[in-house]
Amino acid sequence: MTYLGIDIGGTTAKLGIVDDDGTILARTAVATAGLQDGAAIVDAILQAAAPLVETHRPAAVGIGSAGRIDVQNGVVLRAGNLPFQNEPLCAKVSAALHLPTFLDNDANCALLAEATCGVCTDCRDALMVTLGTGVGGAILINGTLYRAHNYRAGEFGHFVFDKDGPPCVCGLRGCFEHYASATALVKAAQTAAEEHPDSRLAAAKPHSAKAVFDAAEDGCPVAEDVLAAYGETLALGLNSLLKIFMPQCIVLAGGVANAGDALLRRTTPHLLPEAELRLSSFASDAGLIGAAMLAKIQ
Ligand SMILES: [Zn+2]
Repeated sequence: MTYLGIDIGGTTAKLGIVDDDGTILARTAVATAGLQDGAAIVDAILQAAAPLVETHRPAAVGIGSAGRIDVQNGVVLRAGNLPFQNEPLCAKVSAALHLPTFLDNDANCALLAEATCGVCTDCRDALMVTLGTGVGGAILINGTLYRAHNYRAGEFGHFVFDKDGPPCVCGLRGCFEHYASATALVKAAQTAAEEHPDSRLAAAKPHSAKAVFDAAEDGCPVAEDVLAAYGETLALGLNSLLKIFMPQCIVLAGGVANAGDALLRRTTPHLLPEAELRLSSFASDAGLIGAAMLAKIQ
């Protein structure tokens, strides 16, 4: 059997036909940035989906979207980067494509991909921590995604890491994502570059996590210091999550995790011995594959 997976992000929506093993057989994408409202995004997605459904006849549709999702009713309640407001996405897609349709948030879909056909198929208890613009997460307990009564569990970016830290949009202060996100890493690198204008890091004008890792790889001690501090900070947060959930593994995903072993090397030495860190096996396709798996497991 095959399933249509749809991964809706702030800039693009990816669509793919995925088989039972998580292999993407066909794919396409549409831009979501600049579209004015939820209806326009749904229209764009349906137009892109039609030829895939026509050709491959998937058994069901799974959708992963950024934002807060009412999984039970298939509604996107609110999504930071997308103009969705109480958008009944499942009902619209199901009616247009005549297929059973299921919806969850993108982080839950990404963990589901890893748990069903990725790096943690051997784990009943696992966490995913996404290190991107912010820090996000997902929780698998006894083989099932844990979402909480209001679908808001897993906000790993928003536990207090420093009570004297900067105010956060969530209402707390000094949240973990201010220290562990890709944004935080780039900010730390830019500060270090200003303090050391002759360094390779400064010459690289770091605007991405990758630029910081590349400078360290080139032997820049300033970049190395930034990454050493970042690795320790990340490990402190992961150790706290470990103590609370005691998962069999923690899967890292998102922009910073793309650094792979270069990230693990600087994080693992600071972790508790019972922590097992793994890297997402699907990189940017985890959300798409997981959305398809959401349809499969129903
Ligand atoms: Zn916060």
